[in-house]
Amino acid sequence: MGKWVYTFGDGKAEGDAKQRDLLGGKGANLAEMASLGLPVPPGMTITTEVCTYFYEHGESYPPELEGQVNDALDLIAASTGRSFGDAKMPLLVSVRSGARISMPGMMDTVLNLGLNDTTVEALAENAGDERFAVDSYRRFIQMYSDVVLGVPMRLFDEHLEALKETRAVELDTELTAADWRELIETYKSLVAKETGKPFPQEPKDQLWGAIGAVFGSWRNDRAITYRRLHQIPERWGTAVTVQAMVFGNMGDTSATGVAFTRNPSTGEKALYGEFLINAQGEDVVAGIRTPQDITEAARKAAGSERPSMEKALPEAFAEFKAVCDKLEAHYRDVQDLEFTIERNKLWMLQTRAGKRTAKAALKIAVDMVDEGIISKDEAVKRIEPASLDQLLHPTIDPTAKKELFAKALPASPGAAAGEIVFSSEEAERLASAGKPAILCRIETSPEDISGMHAAQGIFTTRGGMTSHAAVVARGMGKPCVSGAGTVRINYAAGTMTAGDTTLKAGDFVTIDGATGEVLVGEVAMLKPELSGDFQRIMAWADAARRMKVRTNADTPHDARTAREFGAEGIGLCRTEHMFFDPARINAMREMILADDTAGRRAALDKLLPMQREDFTQLFEIMAGLPVTIRLLDPPLHEFIPHGEEEIKEVAAALGVDPDKLRNRARALAEFNPMLGHRGCRLAVSYPEIAEMQSRAIFEAAIAAAQKTGSPVVPEVMVPLVGLASELEFVKKRIDATAKAVSEETGQTFTYQVGTMVELPRAALNADRIATSAEFFSFGTNDLTQTTFGISRDDAGVFLGSYLREAIIDVDPFVSIDVDGVGALVKIAAEKGRQTRPDIKLGICGEHGGDPASIAFCETVGLDYVSCSPFRVPIARLAAAQAALG
Ligand code: PEP
Ligand code: MG
Repeated sequence: MGKWVYTFGDGKAEGDAKQRDLLGGKGANLAEMASLGLPVPPGMTITTEVCTYFYEHGESYPPELEGQVNDALDLIAASTGRSFGDAKMPLLVSVRSGARISMPGMMDTVLNLGLNDTTVEALAENAGDERFAVDSYRRFIQMYSDVVLGVPMRLFDEHLEALKETRAVELDTELTAADWRELIETYKSLVAKETGKPFPQEPKDQLWGAIGAVFGSWRNDRAITYRRLHQIPERWGTAVTVQAMVFGNMGDTSATGVAFTRNPSTGEKALYGEFLINAQGEDVVAGIRTPQDITEAARKAAGSERPSMEKALPEAFAEFKAVCDKLEAHYRDVQDLEFTIERNKLWMLQTRAGKRTAKAALKIAVDMVDEGIISKDEAVKRIEPASLDQLLHPTIDPTAKKELFAKALPASPGAAAGEIVFSSEEAERLASAGKPAILCRIETSPEDISGMHAAQGIFTTRGGMTSHAAVVARGMGKPCVSGAGTVRINYAAGTMTAGDTTLKAGDFVTIDGATGEVLVGEVAMLKPELSGDFQRIMAWADAARRMKVRTNADTPHDARTAREFGAEGIGLCRTEHMFFDPARINAMREMILADDTAGRRAALDKLLPMQREDFTQLFEIMAGLPVTIRLLDPPLHEFIPHGEEEIKEVAAALGVDPDKLRNRARALAEFNPMLGHRGCRLAVSYPEIAEMQSRAIFEAAIAAAQKTGSPVVPEVMVPLVGLASELEFVKKRIDATAKAVSEETGQTFTYQVGTMVELPRAALNADRIATSAEFFSFGTNDLTQTTFGISRDDAGVFLGSYLREAIIDVDPFVSIDVDGVGALVKIAAEKGRQTRPDIKLGICGEHGGDPASIAFCETVGLDYVSCSPFRVPIARLAAAQAALG
């Protein structure tokens, strides 16, 4: 019989923090906290395996589940002295989701479950507070009906607003117990009308409804989108935690809050958080009431008038502080905590590793090394490589002129400028047109996730530092300013107003997520300054890694940027990019239009000095570091115009008959250019192109060596090889050119010839290819395309469905497909080494900058990865983590 339910509470638990996969993050950590003897309301976690079962069996449960849930309820009853539906001591529970990795706000939650017409009276009696009890009941009907029964929240809100109007009050808190009772009846009729059934009164029915809804929410649209953005596999599933309720809304000695043991924005070592007196958890994260600071220091720093928890509830604060210290020491990492104080008694509802900005992550890791809590290697392992991207964000130029529109909470760092948009759809529309947008909302909800992703930055007028917008923005590394209470957004008019200034959709604003400023117009920004913490972590990473990190660069600008980021050479220079320059493209076109070899050579002679100059610059910038230059790869038709207008223009510029151009375009047209006349096939048809490029490379190597005084050993790379004989054919031309250059100049130089491995045939015949290749560079973009038989240019159209349907976990063009493409890489590496034990192996497809793919490269023992300049720091860190295992 399977074990589907794990209980916790009263100082013991059936699971622990290591069982996140089974119990979800929330369930695993509740179990751990219970075992540590911390005050945790008793409860049970229904495992993620039930979620898997649920979806594999037409949304039904394992037969043993009901009995196991009942047993767990008995334990909770024994611990609390309360039971479901009891008219004197009723048990109330919360039902929450909890995946392996937290997905804030993406799935459903139900609180106060167990309330009905009878138990609400007992709650009133026990709490000595009728108003609180009936308020809880009406909240429960609202939440349950929305989440489980599918009655939209809006309908309940309309009734609530109408009641407030009749009573002529503005705030919910001004309504009396009698008012709530009246509303409860209205709500119940609404549910009966909308669903055709009365609101369920039996707590067990309520419970199973809520469990089903939470499992069901694993596949709601926003959860699916979130998983896609964060590459969380569909098959992980969520756990469901059912836990005895504790109440933060039982008057002024009750409260609820969230806190981090260190500041998640800056990393500063200080307890950081927010709480609300007389409130339930949802009130804090929903951002409807503005929360108060936890510590006095934070309150003073924020200049807030509202009392801190330290002042308002000193005993509970002291206990909470001790729990924070204990948990941080236990987990040896920053914790993100949720707690409730019920009549001065502290209860812990959640702990998890705190999500933090990259800047904070670096500071925390470095501080923890200095504090002797973790080792340098652990510090390196603690940083999410992709998060380093955030540090490369620009900041506002302090000398720039600024016109302040509003100042609010600095919710997620970095500065961003863009057009004002008021909806997620608009943000997505601008993004697809390549335009920057700032998403401006009263508050964001999980539905806005795609819009937040599409925007450059996010601005909200409501909500604190832990509101949905703030949490999600920090996770995405997007600048965010939140809680601008002085700004009024009018969606209908498409405007936002602060004092006398009104901005409208389409106007530019700049937000500064580090200071909370919202500025009118596009303000000048500065390139990011990489901090001392960054340098220290990177130095530790460099010491730990085995693989080298090179860059894909074709321009001096990219090459310089990459070196600043620590690149150790160029792993791929795509020479075709050098020909798209407007000053050069016509010489290229002349070459393509030439009728014979002599004509082609004449045009190539014009290109030679340009190429030589390009390469000389790259060699100089790389100052003796290895540089791999790839011979021309794309099909020639990419260089010639296709539209009528453009054909005429180009023909005039070249002084040729437009018909000739038209005919040539037609002759070069291919059904499948990606599988067509490209790569080394061009060099086979037109060896003179390869000869010109090799000559440029060798002459540049000599020139750069003379200038810098250090020898340059160029690596000439032949693309899209499938046959050993193809490479032999091209290599012969390269070697002959080297010999000629050496004789002409009287200079000797060394160079290497190698190949891309980007076709399955090349991988399978790597032993033969290695007889003439001194190095392999895995071109995993093409290798993925040709292994899957999926066009890399068209994949986007249908891969979305594959991800949605969980047919694949990640896009294979983003993260290497270990089982297929990876298997070919492994075969090629082994076969290459059989022939040439010291063959140099690297990767230069997009995967070279993807941490998961880099981890795979380590297992194959590649010598280096090569990626775009801005990913170099990410790759250095990922390579270190891969080496550390
Ligand atoms: C590749 O195919 O992986 C590669 C690096 O070459 P390109 O992207 O230029 O085809
Ligand atoms: Mg390729």
